Amino acid sequence: MNYRHAFHAGNPADVMKHAALARVLTYFAKKDNAYRVVDTHAGAGLYDLAGTSALRTGEAESGIERVLAADLPAPAAELLAPYLDAVRELRTHAGPKRYPGSPALALALGRPQDRFLFCELNREERLKLDKFVGEDPRAKVLLQDGWHAVGAHLPPRERRGLLLIDPPFEEAGEFDRMLVALRAAYERFATGTFMLWYPIKNLMAVDAFRRDVARLGLPKTLKVEMDFAEVRSQDQLSGSGLIIVNPPFTLADEMRTILTALAPIMARDGKGRVRVSWLVPTA
Ligand code: SAM
Repeated sequence: MNYRHAFHAGNPADVMKHAALARVLTYFAKKDNAYRVVDTHAGAGLYDLAGTSALRTGEAESGIERVLAADLPAPAAELLAPYLDAVRELRTHAGPKRYPGSPALALALGRPQDRFLFCELNREERLKLDKFVGEDPRAKVLLQDGWHAVGAHLPPRERRGLLLIDPPFEEAGEFDRMLVALRAAYERFATGTFMLWYPIKNLMAVDAFRRDVARLGLPKTLKVEMDFAEVRSQDQLSGSGLIIVNPPFTLADEMRTILTALAPIMARDGKGRVRVSWLVPTA
């Protein structure tokens, strides 16, 4: 496990994923009853974009830094406010170039009654996450294989919640593991919301994955994709995607609005491409 998210934190793919995460949790918060977030590949929780790792790639410069500096169209600015306000708020107390990973963002948006379970298999990353989470009574950090979290922690006691699956994609077979996890999650918790992140590098692999997800036939399966660079080789990220099962009914339109505003800001060619469509519509 060589992957360290600190090299990529705040890049365009992170911005897209975290914008969607924030929209889902904002929607959940419209009802008082508690929800639970299970984050299978949680990372360190907090990143320093002025640190050596982030500066080595400079990826956040074309991601969150550009977005924070941009004059966004009003509808996108409004939809992004919970996410961008959480980033700004974190910077006021944690430091000027800090960036929240998915656990930090989820905790920032969560309410006292909500619960959070974070799995992180890398010991060093888990120690950082432990430190960030501190004594927050709402959260548990586990040094557990995230692929086992589905069987171990679903369905949640709250019967309401989000499963986020965001593996590093450094090993072969991760698309297949996502499919297995998605099917198992749905069998255990059919009313849950599931969000799966994937890289757009190898177009044939992505195409096969989309087809396989569609074949599972889970009603309300949404695909959200953004290309932010031209395809140069199968080793370089040219875009990223999310599969979201049981999204809030507003999410497809919201992500269209958000990404149509963000793609030209973050894309290398100043345009980018956005694809939001149902792989499996409502039953
Ligand atoms: N979800 C995080 C966010 O949005 O801020 C980023 C997570 S990063 C893409 C993937 C993380 O998964 C890395 O920190 C890596 O150490 C961890 N990891 C890799 N294999 C794992 C496994 N089998 N179970 C749990 N964590 C794993």
